[in-house]
Amino acid sequence: MSLPDAILGTLRAVLPAAPFTPLHEPEFRGHEWDYVKDCIDTGWVSSVGAYVDRFERDLAAACGTAHAVAVVNGTAALHVALELAGVEAGDEVLCPSITFIATANAISYCGAVPHFVDIEEASLGLDPQALERHLEQIAEQTADGWRNRLTGRRLAAVVPVHVFGHPVRMAELQAVAARFGLPVIEDSTEALGSTVNGKPVGGDGLLGTLSFNGNKIITSGGGGAILTNDPDLARRAKHRTTTAKKPHRWDFVHDETAYNYRLPNLNAALGCAQLERLDDFTARKRTLAGRYADAFRPLSGVRFFEERPGTTGNYWLNAILLDDAEQRDPVLATLNDAGFQSRPLWTPMHQLDMYRACPRADLSVSEALSGRLVNIPSSPKLADAVAS
Ligand SMILES: *Cc1c(COP(=O)(O)O)cnc(C)c1O
Repeated sequence: MSLPDAILGTLRAVLPAAPFTPLHEPEFRGHEWDYVKDCIDTGWVSSVGAYVDRFERDLAAACGTAHAVAVVNGTAALHVALELAGVEAGDEVLCPSITFIATANAISYCGAVPHFVDIEEASLGLDPQALERHLEQIAEQTADGWRNRLTGRRLAAVVPVHVFGHPVRMAELQAVAARFGLPVIEDSTEALGSTVNGKPVGGDGLLGTLSFNGNKIITSGGGGAILTNDPDLARRAKHRTTTAKKPHRWDFVHDETAYNYRLPNLNAALGCAQLERLDDFTARKRTLAGRYADAFRPLSGVRFFEERPGTTGNYWLNAILLDDAEQRDPVLATLNDAGFQSRPLWTPMHQLDMYRACPRADLSVSEALSGRLVNIPSSPKLADAVAS
């Protein structure tokens, strides 16, 4: 049997029969309707309301951080987190090339330049050793911090991404970043519900970011959040994402040029109800991943991507890795033709027109993996038929 057919057979054995199985679909089986209806019934649908406050409290509790600031989407969360970490126009920010476009775009919104570093196959995230080796080669210390000696630009921050919810090696990355005086901003937009040694992902960096887009593990329709343990940064995050308006009963006085990045109460209500379901979503997604792992084990030429020991991923999107990149497109065609929505890894950022000229390290692991990885259906409900 051909590899694409063997993989198709494996999906058929694991997943419930259906004419079409999306890659990831949201599920609303909790208090979603009650909370959204409550917003409409009370008129509190827009820029302020009790659900925004509650969502922020519940998110901070879920992520083990002192503070969470809800914003309009994950990209806005990254943009403001980068600003708060001190990223300025003309700086460079180290990040992976294997990520959703939002990571690189948020860096660009600051007028800064993404500087791409390689990932490791074990976590799909930034490789601490590769980062360190690269910085040793290109970084030089100056009076006002570290610079890229090749471009003369200041190195301002590091943004690791927990790809598909698989936690990066944060402790090692933090140690390397600290050696070069770089703040770490975690792109945790895919990792809500993942833990390392029982501790939730997202609160280790100076700032962390979440997304509640429709395809993420929980959704508020659209939404995001900034996580931090620093009360001053949390206060600044709230101020800068709510037009920097000084509190007053009737006056409109704004004390800086800031953003309208608020999360509407209507979206926060949906988010509150979804967050109540997070543990259930994570548990069912892990059940599904376990079934996939077992089912793919006997196959040669492909392996199901499993979490790194010591980490507990949310398996936001399940992934298989093919030995042979030549097989990727035939596998994608076979699975999609059969109604199992599947997709490749993002095109690496350094291969996109607007980021082609950006500084970069050796990216051989990123390039190799982008040719070999395929995401397969991952909705929590797919576990329900599987559980028995
Ligand atoms: C989803 C996502 C974002 C951005 O989230 P939006 O809410 O869609 O703006 C950023 N980074 C990564 C890695 C993501 O997957």
